[in-house]
Amino acid sequence: MSDFDVLLHRTETLAKKYLRDISHRPVRASADGAELRKTLGAPLAANGMPATAIMEQLAAAAERGTVAQAGPRYFGFVVGGSLPAALAADWLVSAWDQNSGVFVLSPLVATIEDIAADWLKAVTSLPASMSVGFVTGCTMANFTSLAAARHHLCKKVGVDVEAVGLRDAPPITIVASEESHYTVSTSLRMLGFGTAGVKRVATDAHGRMRADALRDTLAQVSGLVIVCAQAGNVNTGAFDPLEAIADVIADAVRTRGVHTWLHVDGAFGLWAAASPKLAHLAKGIHRADSVATDAHKWLNVPYDCGIVFCAHPDSHRGAMTLAASYIQATDVERDPHEFVPEESRRGRAVPVYAALRSLGTAGLAEMIERCCRHAARFAELLGKNPEVRILNDVVLNQVLVRFERPGADADTLTRAVVAGVQAEGTCWLGGTNWHGMAAMRISVSNWSTTESDVEMSVNAILGVLSRS
Ligand SMILES: *Cc1c(COP(=O)(O)O)cnc(C)c1O
Repeated sequence: MSDFDVLLHRTETLAKKYLRDISHRPVRASADGAELRKTLGAPLAANGMPATAIMEQLAAAAERGTVAQAGPRYFGFVVGGSLPAALAADWLVSAWDQNSGVFVLSPLVATIEDIAADWLKAVTSLPASMSVGFVTGCTMANFTSLAAARHHLCKKVGVDVEAVGLRDAPPITIVASEESHYTVSTSLRMLGFGTAGVKRVATDAHGRMRADALRDTLAQVSGLVIVCAQAGNVNTGAFDPLEAIADVIADAVRTRGVHTWLHVDGAFGLWAAASPKLAHLAKGIHRADSVATDAHKWLNVPYDCGIVFCAHPDSHRGAMTLAASYIQATDVERDPHEFVPEESRRGRAVPVYAALRSLGTAGLAEMIERCCRHAARFAELLGKNPEVRILNDVVLNQVLVRFERPGADADTLTRAVVAGVQAEGTCWLGGTNWHGMAAMRISVSNWSTTESDVEMSVNAILGVLSRS
């Protein structure tokens, strides 16, 4: 075997060992930054180190320094894991090392993007005419969507905003809910809109934008308007009422002559649309002008991959691309970079392709439904304990838990249980603040989680509670 073969073979063994051990180790990291810096740091030497030795060292550090997000009992954030086919495809992507910005750079990756894009629209029932971009995550999918919105609305009034810039562009009113994801605000900042002027629409007890409140807001605006809705609240999993929101917007267009764009952040919620049982939650999403989602969350592909869908391909492309003399586009093929902020880029649609192909439509629906069943089971088992209160309607994969005991401060108790569970290591869950109350937040999004993982985790949580 060549040295290269030996290296890759050894690395494969180390990766397989990591994954084999993952459900037996503490989910939390057991090394801190200082220890990791001591193991891996030191000034860079003049002479190189053999690659196999580097991999051994990294693998040893990973045992203590990683959080077992790829494993079955990480419920802290909606992170998903990696389906076997998706992980294997990602290895191929690294081996191929394709710059997939332009079709001529990689006909294979560009074509796989097209196929994966069509499959994604089909499984989520989004219009086949939507343009698609594969980006690093939902933050950039939100960014791209809002850039497309700005292009589209400015063009309506004859302004080429990419040429003249915001200084000479007409004002655009941004409307978002009180609970839209903070990365929508990040995107607004990066795009130069700022966040101070955003009109915030009130939400209901589940964190859903209130369509009646949106109607009141739209009655006060004129000109160009972007409405940011969301499919899947990060705390409760609840969906904004997209059909009602689209109706309210259509009314405002008809009666007040405004130009509008409806953006939906569906980072994890869009995947409900892939399940016949859950699709009702996202009803109306096909009426959005843009939709952002993540594949590295609930589709369970490795980091990183977000996806933007746009109902106006010309505006999508217009916001993202600029011709360069040395990039000669083909007329028949789509150049991926025209739909994303990046130029050179990884072939991140390939793991998406492999994930979808390995699951099939039924397998995808089953994986999504299974995670939701696990979430419901968490709520059911925990809810039997008199000191536990489930704060949300468990409509999707999210469970909000609060611990209450006579004579104890519930916020303090809840925070203590969250910290205790994190330290105990059987599973990992985060804390949150829900409508003024401290809560434990459980997100189920990993393909490999089983019912016994849920039971083990419930026992660990209740054990910590009894000792708190
Ligand atoms: C995770 C998330 C985002 C941000 O996605 P990244 O992939 O982390 O960039 C945006 N919106 C919602 C609702 C999310 O859950």
